[in-house]
Amino acid sequence: MRILLTGCAGFIGWKTCEQLLDAGHTITGLDNLNDSYPVALKKWRLGELEKGSQGHFQFVEGDLLDRKLLARLLQDTKPDAVINLAARAGVRASIADPLSYVETNLSGAVGLMEEMCRAGVKKLVHASSSSVYAGQQPPFNEDQPVDRPQSPYAASKKASEILAHAWHDLYQLDVSVLRFFTVYGPGGRPDMSPLKFIHRIVQGETIVLYGNGEQQRDFTFVDDIARGVVASLKPAGFEIINLGGGNEPITINQMIELMEGFVGKKAIIEKQAWNPADMRHTAADITKASRLLNWIPQVKPEVGFKELADWYLKEQAWLAPELSVYNG
Ligand code: NAD
Repeated sequence: MRILLTGCAGFIGWKTCEQLLDAGHTITGLDNLNDSYPVALKKWRLGELEKGSQGHFQFVEGDLLDRKLLARLLQDTKPDAVINLAARAGVRASIADPLSYVETNLSGAVGLMEEMCRAGVKKLVHASSSSVYAGQQPPFNEDQPVDRPQSPYAASKKASEILAHAWHDLYQLDVSVLRFFTVYGPGGRPDMSPLKFIHRIVQGETIVLYGNGEQQRDFTFVDDIARGVVASLKPAGFEIINLGGGNEPITINQMIELMEGFVGKKAIIEKQAWNPADMRHTAADITKASRLLNWIPQVKPEVGFKELADWYLKEQAWLAPELSVYNG
């Protein structure tokens, strides 16, 4: 297949491109390389991708909001499907800068769908988030009503799902909306606790913990997520699908303990008040992903966090200074 993938320099985009290339697909990857976190990490991922691409990956630096660019890319590359992973991500940052979330996550998605329909592209895979389940009782399933998103990020993702549904009804666009649950692994995001905490433990920097650390997360290894994204190119119609660890959530304290064991160092922890925009516990019901995509996550936290720790230790010469300056 020929695929246009947005957010290709991002954490999930990078791994998804890798798996698509391994499966023999050809990719045009779009990313604006914004500075939401160190650009060096985004460039490192692109470098890794280009190494293994054998000419089947073309990177285009540009913005999802640039309609002329989108139209040209769709016209020139005639993709069989589009995977939209470009977004402003993260709950807390969305409270500080809500408008940029609405612009990229909503206007960006709508512009993309308009241009896709104009170009006759029939299939969209669109990234949503477990954060839309805020206020619900876990385990979360796709039929639960999610009408109280508790952050601009979650609201932008929920609104993008509704708009994608409208595009399906209006223009018969096939859409797989994927609700990802806390993705982690090598090459991860420094604004998220897995990479941020491992960096701080190794460097002897203080970890700020909101609440008592007993909040549970359904951590999902990035290779599993990428496999789910690739599988979701198949279904027709409009589907919302959870991709999560599958009811094996661990607490933040357990994650820290695992990391301490892998790097042989104790974390320095400062506890601060619970942030009400954060979710207490997340857990995915993955019955639908298993039925529709034959998808079940393979990587257990003990294995995945070890891979993250090993990767960090291998790359820390260039990565650690970037992350210490970023301090996200
Ligand atoms: P990421 O920030 O690493 O990747 C997003 C990429 O999109 C970045 O490289 C960024 O430069 C690019 N981008 C942002 N705005 C853009 C724009 N206007 N034009 C072009 N490129 C733009 O995030 P990620 O973790 O890879 O997340 C990918 C998707 O999955 C996002 O939609 C995110 O909301 C969603 N998601 C991620 C997680 C997770 O745990 N990582 C959980 C739930 C949902």
